[in-house]
Amino acid sequence: MWKKCIVLILILSIQSITINTSFGAELESEQLLRKIALKTKTPWSYLAAVYRFEQNRFKRAKQKNQSPTLHISNEQWAGLWNPNLQDSNPDTIRYFQGIGRDGDGDQKAGRNNFLDQLYSVARFLGSQGTSDDHIRHQLWLFYQHPVTVDVITHMAKVFQKFGSTKLTTNRFPLSLQSHYSYRDNWGASRGFGGRRSHEGNDIFADYGTPVLSTCYGYVELIGWNRFGGWRIGIRDTENRYHYFAHLGKFSSKITKGTIVKPGDQLGVVGSSGYGPPGTSGKFPPHLHYGIYRFTGKTTYAFDPFPLLKKWELKEKKKLSHLD
Ligand SMILES: [Zn+2]
Repeated sequence: MWKKCIVLILILSIQSITINTSFGAELESEQLLRKIALKTKTPWSYLAAVYRFEQNRFKRAKQKNQSPTLHISNEQWAGLWNPNLQDSNPDTIRYFQGIGRDGDGDQKAGRNNFLDQLYSVARFLGSQGTSDDHIRHQLWLFYQHPVTVDVITHMAKVFQKFGSTKLTTNRFPLSLQSHYSYRDNWGASRGFGGRRSHEGNDIFADYGTPVLSTCYGYVELIGWNRFGGWRIGIRDTENRYHYFAHLGKFSSKITKGTIVKPGDQLGVVGSSGYGPPGTSGKFPPHLHYGIYRFTGKTTYAFDPFPLLKKWELKEKKKLSHLD
């Protein structure tokens, strides 16, 4: 009897150790996310999107040595009226309508336990129903930021469409066989548009050259802008926003909400912009490509040139393999 108990305790402790040490790997494997999703009825794609959104924010914060964590306030976790905001007792937390739950079976709702955090957020998101509207409503209550709700929803839709979260492949926005040239002109002062610094990189190419998606993503924006002309904005699965401007025309298959993969044609190179809809020819034809990131509070642009170089090199290697 004692021996059995000891063996059982050993097995249990080994299991909990494996859960803790292989956390990152397990999460990336999607298995854990799917398990939690199944248990909580929250669609796995939304859970994966929340995880990716938070993981990305976390990486940006350069806290590489810390274990992953979700941003949950004490009040959200323990309940607004809970006299003990450090509470880890699932029963009192539930009583005070906090979201904290026990995800790993240790009878504690660990404020700093990542599995408990993930499970608790999943429980909260799926608690009112599993439709997109229900989840979006819960996302709104949780984050209280309209852009965050959209970003997570759009990332979830991409995960859903491809049935996977391994969608981080990127490519150069033009075919390498087309006729183009570019140099780093990020931040340069521009001839057009006043004194705004240049938030992107221009790739000069012939009229009609196909413009291709650089990523797996969701088309958040398509239409006319006085400066950008005919332009498209795509949210990728790493919470980056890819912006393609001055197009000659759009591909007929691309509309708001279209889910694209790298290489899908978005439109063609043109010289549209700097005037009312349809204005074109005020500068040589080129693709203006910009890339932005949303921090959870604000959006900022960063220099796409190193990425363009990297993606161009990758395509070059692919082509040389074909020779
Ligand atoms: Zn430009």
